[in-house]
This record gives sequence, C-alpha cells and structure tokens, in this order.
Amino acid sequence: MIKKLIILILTLTILTSTAQAQQIKPIELPIIMYHFIVENKGEHHISPDEFERDLLFLQQNDYNTISMSELIAFVYDYQPLPPNPVMLTFDDGYYNNYAYAFPLLQKYNMKAVINIIGDHTDIWSNNFYEDMQHGHTTWEQLNEMLESGLVEIGNHTYSMHRNRYGRRGCTRMEGESLFDYQRLFGRDVNRLQGRIFEETETHSDVFAFPFHAVCDDAIQVLQILGFRAAFTGAQIPSKPNVITQGDMDCLFDLRRVNRSRLRPVENIFPVIQTNPRHHEN
Ligand SMILES: [Zn+2]
Repeated sequence: MIKKLIILILTLTILTSTAQAQQIKPIELPIIMYHFIVENKGEHHISPDEFERDLLFLQQNDYNTISMSELIAFVYDYQPLPPNPVMLTFDDGYYNNYAYAFPLLQKYNMKAVINIIGDHTDIWSNNFYEDMQHGHTTWEQLNEMLESGLVEIGNHTYSMHRNRYGRRGCTRMEGESLFDYQRLFGRDVNRLQGRIFEETETHSDVFAFPFHAVCDDAIQVLQILGFRAAFTGAQIPSKPNVITQGDMDCLFDLRRVNRSRLRPVENIFPVIQTNPRHHEN
C-alpha cells in the first residue's frame, strides 16, 4: 500500500514538473532608462512632450509597462505577465520626474521604477525648493508616487553615486580588499534601504549601478542583503533582456537602454515595431 502511494506521489510530481517545464517560455523585456524629463539641450534630458510621445508610442504599439514586483513575481512565483512587457526606469530621482513624468504616467496608467540616490533625497527633503533642472524628489513626493501604485523605488546607493578617490561609482577599487569593499558597499546600500523603510514603509527589491559601472563583488552583497534584482549595464536596443521563470540569476543582470535626447523611442524598439502582430488592427 505504502509502495503504491509512493509511486503515485512520484508520478504526480513528475507530471506536475513536466507540465510546469512545458509552460516555461523565456520572454524578452526591453528596459528603458530615463534621467531628466525637462526642456534642456543635455544628452540625458528629454522634454515632457517627448516623454509623452514615448508613452503614446508604447500605447499605440500594444506595449504593457510592468513593475519590478510583477517581474519578480513572474520569475519567482510563476505569475503571468501581460503581453509585450516593457519596463520604464528613471535614474537619480530628479524632481522633474515627479513634476512632469509622474502626471503623464498617471494619464496613461503606466508604471515605472525610480532609482533614488539616498543623500540627495535626504538633502532635498530637508531643504526643498523648486528647481526643475537640478532638484531631487523629496520623501513626501516619493510617498505620493508610491501611493499611486504606478511607481516603485529602486536603490541607487546612499552616497556612492560619484567618481572620487579613484573609485568609479560603487565599484571595488584596485588594491582594495574584498572584505573592506564589501563592508563599505554593504553599509552604504543598507543605509539607503533603512531610509527607504523609515520614510515609506516599503522595501526596495532592486539596485541600480551608477554609471553602468558594474561590480561582481557588489552583486554578492546585494544578494546577501535580500535584493532580488539589479540594473547593471547597457542594453543593446535590438537585444532585450531574456527573462526565464525560475531563473533568479537573470534578474541580477537587467540591462537598460539609455533613452537619450539623441535616441528616439522608435529606435529603441525597432524589432518589435516591425513585428506583424502590431499591424493587425
Ligand atoms: Zn545615476
């Protein structure tokens, strides 16, 4: 009797895992990286009108913006994602993201991840004045965006978003011991995690490397600290991220296309734009 029961359980397990394996199909995920949404001639700036055109382009081409939580649930919990997913991200947490981009995200009901720099957020929260070009968002503004359900916060270091003393961003310096580096990096990132929780009562699941300067020794620390994803290097527009359910590691190398003033959104999605399914209606 027990033997039969064991055989039955084994058969059911095999059947279930086979069914699950058949369902696992990797998806392609383009991720766009914005910085400033404001009138300015700088390369990392696009105007609010241009940003709205991006959102219209995504809408007209049947893209669905997804949140980081949805992506994590897709990989970890085998939850479904909408067709043609795309992720929008903003680096550094500029005030113009709140002033200009957030109302447009609400208008089109689109989601985004804002990767904030801890010390800038604290400084601007303590002494806020309206500066569309260089200002940063405050915790209050971040909370308002979080409450909309459209925006999530990513960790972009507390105070390592700079190149100084020979260190590029938050990478390990030449000659620095692994222990010293990991302690320094871990403390910095954890400090911002603490501030995020104190101010918003949420956790950030994703870390964004400043300047695309990636460090494998940092990834280890992020995993120990409980992060579940990392924005790493640059994505070639024609090669979106390949995401597979059950493959947690793929979330630690999420690459992004820099949406600069010189790169229109149409050039970011040439492959999917020519996909016949988008010309059916
Ligand atoms: Zn940055």
